[in-house]
Amino acid sequence: MASRRFFVGGNWKMNGNKGSLGELIATLNNASLHEQTDVVCAAPSIYLDFARSSLDPRIAVAAQNCYKVAQGAFTGEISPAMIKDCGADWVVLGHSERRHVFGESDELIGQKVAHALQSGLGVIACIGEKLEERESGTTEEVVCAQTQVIAENVMDWEKVVLAYEPVWAIGTGRTATPEQAQEVHEKLRAWIRANISDEVADSLRIIYGGSVTGVTCRELASQDDVDGFLVGGASLKPEFVDIINARA
Ligand code: PGA
Repeated sequence: MASRRFFVGGNWKMNGNKGSLGELIATLNNASLHEQTDVVCAAPSIYLDFARSSLDPRIAVAAQNCYKVAQGAFTGEISPAMIKDCGADWVVLGHSERRHVFGESDELIGQKVAHALQSGLGVIACIGEKLEERESGTTEEVVCAQTQVIAENVMDWEKVVLAYEPVWAIGTGRTATPEQAQEVHEKLRAWIRANISDEVADSLRIIYGGSVTGVTCRELASQDDVDGFLVGGASLKPEFVDIINARA
């Protein structure tokens, strides 16, 4: 819907180095990016400073994860305060790789969402069903239950973007069809309308992730309830610019 600003996040995951990311950053800095689109790059935590100091200010920086408290004896973790200290404004939470490779629970993700928002970060909160859940017809139930836990931890929705990322589509080359994405986004918005408010339902950006490419992005972007993308593999390539500019 035109009233919601398009939002495109690039999730670099655990890829690249200063050389290759520097080249990508130069491409993005020199590209003509749609002014009505919010662009965020999620860098590996060790490169947050590098990303923030190299990227043009019109591109925001996100961390890919953080912990649920500000500081302490949590070896290997980073806090929202540290992310902010590096000049980054966003964090991705609940990504399927955090949930399924690293075993993060809904409860932990909810606690992280609450703390990140209280610390002043914007949160890209990710949800999505596994293939067997889709095949058994429980997609709506699964994504609404995940959204519920996130919602219980949100006081102010202004700094939240909800990313629907079906697990079967992530990194598989199997993009959801525009109809499949729209169907779930519409249900999520209806859930928000019924459980939060009309205002939040109308303003919340619900973005799609899972094998988005320069080829698949345009038709997805034309769906009423698709307000942008979270992009993995293709965010490391020059075609990310086409995805940012997907909404005509
Ligand atoms: P993909 O990753 O675009 O490589 O499928 C998306 C994501 O994990 O956010």
